Amino acid sequence: MENQKTDVVIVGSGVAGLYCALNLPRDKNILMITKEDVESSDSFLAQGGICVLRDDSDYDSFMEDTLKAGHYKNRRESVDIMIRSSRETIQDLIQYGVEFTKENGKEVYTREGAHSKPRILFHEDITGKEITSKLLTQVKKLDNVTIMEYCTMVDLICQNNRCAGILVRDKEGHFFTIEACYTLLACGGVGGLYKHSTNFRHLTGDALAICLKHKIELEHIDYVQIHPTTLYSTKPGRRFLISESVRGEGALLYNKNGERFANELLPRDALTKEIRKQMAIDQMPYVHLSMVPLGKETILNHFPNIYQHCLEEGYDVTKEPIPVVPAQHYFMGGIHVDAFSKTTMDMLYAAGETSCNGVHGANRLASNSLLESLVFAKRAAQQMTEQFPESMEQLPEHIQFNKLVGSLNMKEYNDVELLQQQYKTMILEEMEREKNSDE
Ligand SMILES: Cc1cc2nc3c(=O)[nH]c(=O)nc-3n(C[C@H](O)[C@H](O)[C@H](O)COP(=O)(O)OP(=O)(O)OC[C@H]3O[C@@H](n4cnc5c(N)ncnc54)[C@H](O)[C@@H]3O)c2cc1C
Repeated sequence: MENQKTDVVIVGSGVAGLYCALNLPRDKNILMITKEDVESSDSFLAQGGICVLRDDSDYDSFMEDTLKAGHYKNRRESVDIMIRSSRETIQDLIQYGVEFTKENGKEVYTREGAHSKPRILFHEDITGKEITSKLLTQVKKLDNVTIMEYCTMVDLICQNNRCAGILVRDKEGHFFTIEACYTLLACGGVGGLYKHSTNFRHLTGDALAICLKHKIELEHIDYVQIHPTTLYSTKPGRRFLISESVRGEGALLYNKNGERFANELLPRDALTKEIRKQMAIDQMPYVHLSMVPLGKETILNHFPNIYQHCLEEGYDVTKEPIPVVPAQHYFMGGIHVDAFSKTTMDMLYAAGETSCNGVHGANRLASNSLLESLVFAKRAAQQMTEQFPESMEQLPEHIQFNKLVGSLNMKEYNDVELLQQQYKTMILEEMEREKNSDE
């Protein structure tokens, strides 16, 4: 089997993977693999925006909003790190060419559900595309980074609790290995495991199953967020998100009789409950959301993508309400990591939605995830940089990589469908187990 050797292998090309690559030393070789094409990551889909600490006077309120939304199950230390690193992160993004929406030459801040103040920067309603495409452009300029598309990590290669690389399957079904000093898992969420989700279908939590297999600690993998408002559709595939900032700007929810039934700015989990209750009362598969109160100008300026998408689905949001329904959206739990995104396995890091550093607690506050992914991906890069060994041979647990690869039972991986099903079952069973142990 072919082997590629590199200093760092990054699994995933969303914001976490890209930003980590940008923060690693230029004299280290980095291989980045991604399951589909490089633009098919949830990072490209983010609509609403990215939080920032506007000034120090907002620290307590930003902290409290994050903790309250998370049902106080958050790791306070991680929230503190995220908030304090937010301005530096935004400055980095601006330097990389990211443009946030401005009025009279000044950045505009919006507000979403459960935020007590406007503290969210955005780029129309395609903030994720703006940020991720600019980071990707920067990464593509780097001579030390190679991106390999349509390559799926199917396992870690590890021994005695030390990660030495990964096993990969390419588009043609060929297997190869990547031997690396450090491995970063930046594999995103778990929406692909659900029938209705806003996530890309190929995000199936592979890294979680692989970690379970190797007894790498996971945390709160039953913490799954349902977004209250996605466009109702009977078509198969990904659900289209109607961003929370639409409600932050004044959109209203109605039952089938045209009556309001909930505070539109409740945290996501609480509003989801209200909507589901109303759907049961109405005996309808959706409720209505009206963007009409925002006015045509705000809709066209702030939400052009939502306007266009709804128009293509037959709804003119400047004139009429749209049917909305809750759907799986975000994963707060994940691979347990410390404040530097280090997992419980040596030489193995995890960042972004696949990891759990405790920022979001039991429920994520809107627009905190792009920020959290970026902040903790950079911290992983910083720690790797500081601790880079002179050579892999110098590591205390020297691994004979070829011998380890030779001992792999390739029959386990040959049937792609079966492997995917096994990984899915492992995750769902673990989620169930964790849920029951919480109760
Ligand atoms: C519709 C939508 C709107 C959102 N809006 C916002 C918002 O306004 N603000 C906000 O802060 N957050 C928002 N989020 C959440 C945010 O976009 C994500 O949490 C964040 O982008 C996650 O980044 P990531 O790098 O961890 O993962 P992703 O961007 O999802 O990237 C995961 C990568 O891992 C790769 N991968 C997965 N498994 C494998 C494997 N086995 N082998 C190889 N590669 C693999 C994928 O191909 C992909 O490249 C939104 C999410 C969605 C879905």
